[in-house]
Amino acid sequence: MSELLFLEPVFKEVLWGGDALGARFGYEIPSDKTGECWAVSGHQNGDCRIRGGQYDGRTLGQLWQEHRELFGNQPGEQFPLLVKIIDAREDLSIQVHPDDAYAGAHENGSLGKTECWYILDCEPDASIVIGHNASSKEELAQMIAQERWEELLRLCPVHKGDFFQIEPGTVHAIKGGTLILETQQSSDVTYRLYDYGRLQNGKPRPLHLKQSMDVIVCPCREARPQRSVQETEEYCLEQLIACGYYTVEHADIHGTLKRKGQPLYEIIDVLDGEGTINGVSIKKGDHFLLPNGYGDYELKGKLELMLSRP
Ligand code: ZN
Repeated sequence: MSELLFLEPVFKEVLWGGDALGARFGYEIPSDKTGECWAVSGHQNGDCRIRGGQYDGRTLGQLWQEHRELFGNQPGEQFPLLVKIIDAREDLSIQVHPDDAYAGAHENGSLGKTECWYILDCEPDASIVIGHNASSKEELAQMIAQERWEELLRLCPVHKGDFFQIEPGTVHAIKGGTLILETQQSSDVTYRLYDYGRLQNGKPRPLHLKQSMDVIVCPCREARPQRSVQETEEYCLEQLIACGYYTVEHADIHGTLKRKGQPLYEIIDVLDGEGTINGVSIKKGDHFLLPNGYGDYELKGKLELMLSRP
């Protein structure tokens, strides 16, 4: 049987970040403005190192290039998924991502970005921005030019355990007071539409109005993923989404969950608790990959997990 690949997260300091990643998961974060934990990434802007085992110190990006058999020989230039935990103390800018076709043509062959959010925690009155109220590109251009942001943007209240799928071309923003687990295509292409007129080092951050106008879908489409739950006395396993890029599930375990090995490979994030997988200890804050051929497995303990796969 092949061994688990444990990953070392990469942290990103940003103006809107906080200290929850350290306080909640026990990570050694660089400062109290840490916004993102790139937990599972083979992206060049934050390539996670393997911790322990025969590949100790290699990065996920390197293994993808040199040991494709670990990933079931899935084709592609780069490891296709990226899992982040995002601590938004302040509002993020209003943004939109391109699809594969637009990103490939305009961003040096980069992937587009489909992403999804699971709300790990939030303040009682927290909300996000998702979607807009313009019925056509002309109306969108007009509302942007006239800065009618409140009228344009759709605000949605959020609660712990909520889940959102964000398709390319969807205007969105995480707002302050939310802790989110994000599963996405491995891409760092973001077009900023509006930044609340904020300044960074005395200057506004650049906006990408032309690209935003190109990719925003009008009228907006709302993705409503079908959630399905499997519950026993020892676990509750919920499928949150299965789309063309990823399948994401959430599990609460208090006992044992036996599971078949998944095709290609699978990613597991330990959100809370501790336990074992096939006898190997795992705990809150761990992120690991089950390589191709790992086979059936047994999770035991008191565990809250996210499970994702291509
Ligand atoms: Zn986004």
